[in-house]
Amino acid sequence: MRQSVLFPKTVKEDPKDAQSANHKFLVRGGFIDQLMSGSWSILPLGQRVIGKINQIIREEMNAIGGQELSLPLLHPKEIWNETERWDAAREVMYQLSDARGREYALSFTHEEIVMDLIRKKISSYKDLPLYVYQFSTKFRNEPRATGGILRGREFLMKDLYSAHVSEADLMAYYETVKEAYLKIFNRLGLKVLVTEAAGGVFTKAHTHEFQVLSPVGEDTVFYCENKNCGFSQNKEVAVVAAGGRCPTCQSSLIKEGRAIEVGNIFPLGTMYSEKMQAFFTDKNGARKPIWFGSYGIGPTRVMGTIVEEYHDEKGIIWPEAVSPFNIHLLGIKNQESRIMEKTEELYEKLTKAREEVLWDDREDVSAGQKFADSDLIGIPWRVVISEKSLAGGGVEVKKRNQAESKIVSQDQLLNFLLR
Ligand code: ATP
Ligand code: MG
Repeated sequence: MRQSVLFPKTVKEDPKDAQSANHKFLVRGGFIDQLMSGSWSILPLGQRVIGKINQIIREEMNAIGGQELSLPLLHPKEIWNETERWDAAREVMYQLSDARGREYALSFTHEEIVMDLIRKKISSYKDLPLYVYQFSTKFRNEPRATGGILRGREFLMKDLYSAHVSEADLMAYYETVKEAYLKIFNRLGLKVLVTEAAGGVFTKAHTHEFQVLSPVGEDTVFYCENKNCGFSQNKEVAVVAAGGRCPTCQSSLIKEGRAIEVGNIFPLGTMYSEKMQAFFTDKNGARKPIWFGSYGIGPTRVMGTIVEEYHDEKGIIWPEAVSPFNIHLLGIKNQESRIMEKTEELYEKLTKAREEVLWDDREDVSAGQKFADSDLIGIPWRVVISEKSLAGGGVEVKKRNQAESKIVSQDQLLNFLLR
């Protein structure tokens, strides 16, 4: 893509009242824009990052049998009354009425909606288990929408739902999803603590959150200092204290830290199916309630968390797996036709080789500004063509997270990038 037409331009100044790195850099780089508190437009660069994040999640969901679908965002009050969550979740749910006085909710989650599908479509043990997921907008009446894109009143969630014939089958799949989530966060470059937590307005059972240690996190976790041990509890359910001995490994000490919750899995049991009359007949013809679980990841919050983990004072340093482009190609002094021609030639060649290239083809922008934009946007490889690089026999290649650059001939560039 040509940077001369990329929407929008970068900005030098931090947005007002931006406290966190993700807020500053994602806004300045043109990845996102704030409409009002907690409400963000995802702009073309941001959309590319979200697309990469979603694709990683999608691959791992499909690998554990997930079938992708799409559920409505506007729900009738009646369905929320079936589980009494119209009242129980009133604080987070946007509730509204139409001109005829009919009442609705905007989706803050989809358990009831999936359960309605299940009771209509499933009747026998032969139809189970079932795993369905979607990527969709969730609306939540968050009292404090801060931290840039980390907490929105409207945000993206991947939500997976599973239905089973037995508790044992549900819990086996729960472990499968836990493993899939670990793969996802590993591919996304995030180190997570699998953390025991409460179930909020979803369940009375304990759940597991995937927490990334970070000073901007809003949760407090108590975790074992020995990374191989893996013990971690959210403060809201913790039975340990900082400085105490770890109850799991018995040898290391417990630490306390702030963390960002990027995922949460819920073994919901039969509460929803019993309230909503979702039953199946087993092998012996007996009528039984369906066992149910739900599993969420917030891709928009994940994007913000990655920026919190991967940045320096100049801007973002995207891990290759989620970067909006692989290569940032900069022509220095594009006004000179020799530079423009060489750069365009290389752009065509790289694009043909299926590399994703952002080409800074702008003529009216100084070299200093181009380098600053490149550091801000944070694409992993920077390739510069200038009089100096051509005199040196090729192009100047630099990784975003390294200080030294190297001159490589145009022919060797692709091999060099493949490492
Ligand atoms: P929090 O405790 O941070 O309010 P939650 O526990 O209410 O989040 P869940 O219902 O567990 O959130 O939602 C699943 C996932 O959706 C979360 O792990 C997170 O990644 C994402 N998410 C939840 N709330 C928000 C939000 N307000 N903005 C952005 N992402 C969110
Ligand atoms: Mg949660």
